[in-house]
Amino acid sequence: MCAVFGTKRQSPVTVSRVPEASFEAVLAFARDAASSAGSPGPGGREQSTVLRESVIPAELEEPTTDPNELDLRAGRLRNLCSLERPKGEQVPARSTLGARTLYVRSPIVKAWVLKEARGRCELCQQEAPFVGDDGEPYLELHHVLPLADGGADTVENAVALCPNCHRRLHHAEDRSERREHLYRQVSRLIRVP
Ligand SMILES: [Zn+2]
Ligand SMILES: [Zn+2]
Repeated sequence: MCAVFGTKRQSPVTVSRVPEASFEAVLAFARDAASSAGSPGPGGREQSTVLRESVIPAELEEPTTDPNELDLRAGRLRNLCSLERPKGEQVPARSTLGARTLYVRSPIVKAWVLKEARGRCELCQQEAPFVGDDGEPYLELHHVLPLADGGADTVENAVALCPNCHRRLHHAEDRSERREHLYRQVSRLIRVP
């Protein structure tokens, strides 16, 4: 499923910061704009870009330390037809909860990488083993250089993996070889010297 945001020429709408509660209203507006879309007309393309960007509620893009919230926001972002390649954070902020270190992570980085994988694991290249409860192929996000080792929360340091390959990269005897394989196979990855 992919929410198509409008291509119709319409009075300019600037909804750059929308409270979470109005997300449904914004979606309804976008659906309405999309369903009644005619030919874009002069300047239509530019306007559609403005519309698409303006209907992403700011809260969905907000980085978070809460894994559930991260999944929720990334899942909603993943439903948007096109997401611009995000910059992410070279040095994600961290906080501590008891003995645990939590990293502030970007929902857009997660959504973009999952979308980019188009339902296939970026290590074994097989299709996701099942469809998740959000109706999307189930893949997990993995930071190739772990955040705990100074890795960046960026699309150049993250891949979408099937659960099996994900566990393999964390626990297998041959995990460093698999990691090298990822660097060779996924061209967007950038190794930090
Ligand atoms: Zn795999
Ligand atoms: Zn991982």
